[in-house]
Amino acid sequence: MDEIYPTGVTADAVKGELTITWSDGVEAVYSFALLRNACPCAECRGGHENMTSEPTPDMFDIPEMDPRAISLKDIEAVGNYALVLHWEDGHEYGIYNWNYLRALWEKSLEYGQSA
Ligand SMILES: [Zn+2]
Repeated sequence: MDEIYPTGVTADAVKGELTITWSDGVEAVYSFALLRNACPCAECRGGHENMTSEPTPDMFDIPEMDPRAISLKDIEAVGNYALVLHWEDGHEYGIYNWNYLRALWEKSLEYGQSA
């Protein structure tokens, strides 16, 4: 199986951006605000029944957020399939799997990402 996976993940706290280099050579840049707004956890999605494996267009309509909510504290790898992002406000429930992160980047090209 020829799955696409990240070969490198770097966070730039000054720019507020996460860069993921993918195994197919794509370098994808995500603003912290977009990542937080697109947090896939049940709490952020408003309940388990709303959890989605694909990003939705409203995730790219980024509201004003607490600076601590969009300040990345730590990145944790989960097995071989996902990242958990730890935010300064203590939120750390979102499991961003590769498919989700890749789709988020592809959609961000479509919808644009403003912070
Ligand atoms: Zn969340």
